Amino acid sequence: MNYKILYAFCLILLIPQILVSKGIAIIPSPQFFQEKEGVFVLNQGTSIMVQKDLTAKANQLKNYLEPALGFDLSVTSKSLSGNYIELKKDKNLAQLGNEGYKLEINPNKISLSAFSEKGIFWGIQTLRQLLPDAVLREAPVEGVKWEIPCIVIEDSPRYNWRGLMLDCSRTFIPKEEIKKYIEAISFFKMNVLHMHLTDDQGWRIEIKKYPELTKIASRFHESFDEPEEYAGYYSQDDIKELVAFAAARNVEIVPEIEMPGHTYEVFAAYPQLSCKGDTSKIKSWFPGLGLHKEIFCAGNNETFEFIENVLDEITMLFPSQYVHIGGDEAPKDYWKTCEKCQNRIKNENLANEDELQSWFVKRIEKYLNSKGKKLIGWDEIMDGGLSPGATVMYWRSWDKTVAREIPEIKNDIIFTPTSHCYFDYTYEKISSERMYSFNPVFNEQNQTPGNILGVQANFWSHLDRTSPQIDRQLFPRLLALAEVGWTEKDKKDWDDFKIRLQSKLKSLEIIGIHYFKENY
Ligand SMILES: [Zn+2]
Repeated sequence: MNYKILYAFCLILLIPQILVSKGIAIIPSPQFFQEKEGVFVLNQGTSIMVQKDLTAKANQLKNYLEPALGFDLSVTSKSLSGNYIELKKDKNLAQLGNEGYKLEINPNKISLSAFSEKGIFWGIQTLRQLLPDAVLREAPVEGVKWEIPCIVIEDSPRYNWRGLMLDCSRTFIPKEEIKKYIEAISFFKMNVLHMHLTDDQGWRIEIKKYPELTKIASRFHESFDEPEEYAGYYSQDDIKELVAFAAARNVEIVPEIEMPGHTYEVFAAYPQLSCKGDTSKIKSWFPGLGLHKEIFCAGNNETFEFIENVLDEITMLFPSQYVHIGGDEAPKDYWKTCEKCQNRIKNENLANEDELQSWFVKRIEKYLNSKGKKLIGWDEIMDGGLSPGATVMYWRSWDKTVAREIPEIKNDIIFTPTSHCYFDYTYEKISSERMYSFNPVFNEQNQTPGNILGVQANFWSHLDRTSPQIDRQLFPRLLALAEVGWTEKDKKDWDDFKIRLQSKLKSLEIIGIHYFKENY
C-alpha cells in the first residue's frame, strides 16, 4: 500500500479517538465512562432537584454555575420532569466508597448520585469540567450554548490521599492565595492541603498562649531586608475560615509544626527552648543546605510543655485526624554536647542521639494520640526506631526509597519523592510527563509492605516567592499528580492526558492561574 494512503487511513482511525478524548476532557480521568448520543442543554428552565440533606451541595452547584450562565437555577425538593439535574445519595453505591459517584447525563436529565456528600461534590466537579470552559467565568458569558455531552460515568479514587504541600514559612502565602489553591486543587479532585506552618524562616500561626511567636517569630529580622509581604501569620480566625472553606470543597487541611529541627525561628522568641539558649535573628533562606544546628533541647522539660501547649491549640483548630510534626533534617551536634540532652539519653536508656530523636517523636505521638490525632512525619522519623501508628511521608528520591527503605516498614505511607513530586524544582528536572509517569508502588506486583495512603506534591517557597511564580511551579504538573492519585494505572495514558491537558490549560487561564508553558 502507498504510504500516503496508509497514513491517511491511520489518521481516519485516530480522529474519532481524539474527538472522544476532547469530548470528555476530564482530569483526573474517570475509572469508567461510556459516551452516549446527544447532549443535555442547561437553560433558564433548568432546575436542581434534591433531597433536603443535599441542599448545601445543590446550592454549591448553583453558585458555581450561575455567575457565568447569567440566569438562576432553582433548587427544589419536589419531583420534576423535563430539563433538570438530580442530586441524590444512594446506599447501593457504597462499593464506590466515600468519594465515589455515578453521573448519568441524558438529554432531559442529569442524575448525580453517590454514597456520600463527598462523592456528590466530586461529581459536581466532573459536571463543571464537562461544560464549556466559559462556565468558570465569574460574569455572564453571552453566546455560549451550555451543552453537556451525554455520558455515563462511574468513578472513585485509586488513593485516599491526593495532596499538595505549601510552604507558608519561607514565604508567607496570604489567605486569599491559599483559597485560590484550595479552589483549584478541588476542581481536580485533590483532597489534602498540607500547610507547612513553621520553619527556620518564620512561625505563621497564632498561638494564644505564646504571643511572642507571632510578634517576633513571624517577622524576618530587619537586617535581612526582606519584603514586608513575605512575612506574616494566620490568625486563629483566618485558620477557621480556611478550614471551613476547604471542608466545603472536600479538602482537608493538615497542619505541620516542625520539630525537633527547623525551629530556629522559635528561639528568636523563646531562646530557652534550645540547647545553647542563644537568641537568634530570623534569617531569610540562603543557598546551600540551610540547616541550623539550633534545635529543640530534648533534655529540657520546658520544651515539651511548650510543644504540648502549642499542639493543644493546633488540634482544636484543625479537625483533620492528622498532625504533621516534620522530624526531618535535625542536626544532632548540640544534643551531643548538651548536658540536659545527654542526661535524657542516660535516664531513658537510649543508645545515641538518633534514639533520642525517636524517643522525642514517640513522646509527641503519644500526646497527639491522647488528643485523638495521628502523627505524620518526614521519613527521618524512622531513624532510631518508629512506632507502628505513625504515618511516614517519604520525601527522599524514589530510587533510594524503593531500594533501601520501603521493604523495611509496615506503616502507612504517603509518597512525595524529590524525584517526582518536588514542585520547587524546575520543569527541566520534573516535567508534567515525569510526574505523570510516577507509579507509587514498590514493584509491579504492588508488593509494598506498608499501606500506601497516596501521593502529594511538595512546594518549598524559598526560591519562587510571588504568586505568579508559585502558580507556574505548581501548574500544570499538579494536574498530572491529580491523575496519578485518582486514576487506576491501567486507565492512565500520557498521550490521552496531553490532549485533555490542553483543554484544561484554558480552564486554568480563566481561573487566573499563571501556568508554566511546557513543550509536549
Ligand atoms: Zn539539649
